[in-house]
Amino acid sequence: MAEKTEQKAEHPKKITVVGAGVSGCEAAVTAAQKGHKVTVYEKSGKIGGQWLLAAVPPAKQDFTTLVTWLEHRMDQLGVEVKLNTEYTAQMALEEQPDQIVIATGSREKMLPLPGLDGENVFLAQDILSGRKTLTGKNVVVIGGGSVGVETAAHVAQDFKHVSILEVRDGISLDGEYSNNYFLFKILDEFKVDVHTKAYFQKFENGTVTYKYKDKDYEIDDVSDIIVAVGSASNQDLYHELKDTGIETVLTGDAKDVKQGIKNIEESYYLGWSL
Ligand SMILES: Cc1cc2nc3c(=O)[nH]c(=O)nc-3n(C[C@H](O)[C@H](O)[C@H](O)COP(=O)(O)OP(=O)(O)OC[C@H]3O[C@@H](n4cnc5c(N)ncnc54)[C@H](O)[C@@H]3O)c2cc1C
Repeated sequence: MAEKTEQKAEHPKKITVVGAGVSGCEAAVTAAQKGHKVTVYEKSGKIGGQWLLAAVPPAKQDFTTLVTWLEHRMDQLGVEVKLNTEYTAQMALEEQPDQIVIATGSREKMLPLPGLDGENVFLAQDILSGRKTLTGKNVVVIGGGSVGVETAAHVAQDFKHVSILEVRDGISLDGEYSNNYFLFKILDEFKVDVHTKAYFQKFENGTVTYKYKDKDYEIDDVSDIIVAVGSASNQDLYHELKDTGIETVLTGDAKDVKQGIKNIEESYYLGWSL
């Protein structure tokens, strides 16, 4: 891939990248390598986005090194990073960049099902980030994709009793083999209950009801629920900007939600194409 980035742009552009997750940072690095003048806007106080949460579950701490590397590369290449700055359509109209890269990530979905509007119902990201704290010791995780299972392992290691409900016939089916190997060992060690083909029905008076093969089952004395049922792309800014005449392109989860590795590859090629 390296030889492609060595071709400098004939006409350097003023490029704005919105969002300093790994997708935005990777696009910024590559575009800057081509000789463009790049500014990254990030509404939170740090770079890394969801990747910082991907580094929280057991055996994944090394993920943070990528964020350190991207920060270092942006610094080396003279990319200006504006933290604590939410980029708006109004700002774009005022500064008129030649190109805007929208890397605004995704929003977690919540299930519109009975009992999931209470105070002890959390999104996986709220727990992994430490923004919110579980209230008790008996936790049900709804969603057994890799995010749900990693969150279950993270919580179980904190000596909570955890049950996972997953509608498919297996858990972490989207997870990588080597990561699943460690995860499943932790689930075994901390006696996490796994229910597959299990359809959450309701949460009422501390009892979770789920359906399995047309019969209802209950889990009692549930203190907390963690919901991990996927995310939807955040394209609000893209839609606000697309008819303004400013060149605007989506990348990463903002384009379509996928694994970070795929997002990085996509953003690399996008940065190179600008
Ligand atoms: C628990 C967990 C585990 C994971 N494990 C893996 C794994 O093992 N392997 C893997 O490949 N992937 C994994 N992923 C997925 C990976 O983390 C994501 O695909 C990736 O981080 C998404 O990056 P992104 O830059 O597209 O979006 P995000 O990381 O969501 O970044 C978007 C950024 O945009 C900012 N933003 C939004 N709107 C604005 C605005 N208007 N102005 C300024 N800033 C704005 C946000 O604050 C955020 O920082 C995991 C995810 C989670 C949650």
